[in-house]
Amino acid sequence: MAAEPDCLLKSVNSSASDPHQSVKIQPGPVKTHEKAVTSKSTDSARYQREHPPGESGRVLKPVNSRPSCPELTAPVKPGSGKVQQKTTTSSESARKKWTLEDFDIGRPLGKGKFGNVYLAREKSTKYVVALKVLFKSQLQKAGVEHQLRREIEIQSHLRHPNILRLFGYFHDKSRVYLILEFAPKGELYKELTKNTRFDEKQTASYIHQLTSALLYCHSKKVIHRDIKPENLLLGNNGELKIADFGWSVHAPSSRRATLCGTLDYLPPEMIEGKLHDEKVDIWSLGVLCYEFLVGKPPFEAETNTDTYRRITKVDLQFPTYVSNSAQNLISQLLRHDPKQRISLDRVLKHHWVKDNVIIS
Ligand code: ATP
Ligand code: MG
Repeated sequence: MAAEPDCLLKSVNSSASDPHQSVKIQPGPVKTHEKAVTSKSTDSARYQREHPPGESGRVLKPVNSRPSCPELTAPVKPGSGKVQQKTTTSSESARKKWTLEDFDIGRPLGKGKFGNVYLAREKSTKYVVALKVLFKSQLQKAGVEHQLRREIEIQSHLRHPNILRLFGYFHDKSRVYLILEFAPKGELYKELTKNTRFDEKQTASYIHQLTSALLYCHSKKVIHRDIKPENLLLGNNGELKIADFGWSVHAPSSRRATLCGTLDYLPPEMIEGKLHDEKVDIWSLGVLCYEFLVGKPPFEAETNTDTYRRITKVDLQFPTYVSNSAQNLISQLLRHDPKQRISLDRVLKHHWVKDNVIIS
C-alpha cells in the first residue's frame, strides 16, 4: 500500500458515531452471559490467565443468545488482570485501536481472494467474531485499496438484521484485519449445493429477507451490485446475511463491473457499461430467486459471450415445476429496462411472497 497505514481509513468503530445503537457486550465464559461488562470481570481475568495471548488453533464457540446488533466497541480494554473502563470522549473511543493481541484466533472459516477468514474472540469481552485478514501486498498488487476503503466505509455504517455487521478494522505492517459479525451457519451457496434447489417457501423467505435488506441499503443510496449466493451468509437461526460490500457504491454510478468473474448476476445495463442505479440489485434479486428455485442461474451458458447474449435478450425459460406466481414475480424482476422492474416495496407485497414466506 503506497500510503502510510494510518491514512488508510478513518476509524469505523461505530458506537462513537451512533451511541443509540450501543448494546453492552456480555462478559464471562462463552456459556454464561448474565453480567454487564462494565464491572470488574473476574471471569475475564481468569480466562486470560488460562488462555494466554498467542495461543491459537482453539475452536471458539459463538455467543448465541444476544441482541442481533451488538457493538463490538465495548468501552473496555484488558489491563493488569482487571477490566478497565475506557475513557468516554467520543473522539477517543472513535480512535480506539484494535490489535491482533486483543483477539484469540480460532479455526479458519474460509479463504478469500486476499487472505483468510478466521473465527476469533475478543479477549476482554469474549465476543466471538470473524476476522478477515487481507494482505496489503496483494491488495496493492490488485489495485483494490480504494475498493476496500469503500467497502469498510459503507458496510460499517449499515445496521440491518440481514446485513453482516462490520464492527471495525485495524492493520499492521503487512495486513489489514476486518472485524466482522460471525455467521455461524456459513455460506448459503453451500446450502443450495447440498439441496440442489430450495422449495418455494424457503425461497420466498430468503427473497423477503433480501428484499428488506436491499430496501434499507437503497434508502441510504447504497447499491450492492454483487448479490449472488457466494456473498450471502447464514446467521444462527438460518437468517440470511448479505456480506461482501466490495463492489458496492453510492448510486448512481458508471463504474464498470469486473468482467473477469461470472456475468451471471449482472444486469444488461452493467454488462453494457452504462450508467446504472440501484435497480441493478433488483435484477440480481430476480436471478437469485430463479437460482434458488431451479438450482442454476437463468442465463447460464457455456461461454461468457453466450451468457452476455442471453442476458441482453432476457432469454428466460422456466422448468415446469416453477409455479406460475413465482414465474410472474421473476419476470417482473428481470426486465431489460430498469424502470420497468418491479419495485422492492411491491416485491414484499407480491402474492407469491406473501403466500409462501415463513414468518419466524
Ligand atoms: P471472494 O471474493 O473469493 O468471495 P473474499 O475475499 O470476498 O473472497 P469472503 O467471501 O469474505 O472473502 O470470505 C471467504 C469465506 O470465508 C467465505 O466464503 C465464508 O465461507 C467465510 N466467511 C467470511 N466471512 C465470514 C463470516 N463473517 N462468518 C462466517 N464465515 C465467513
Ligand atoms: Mg466473497
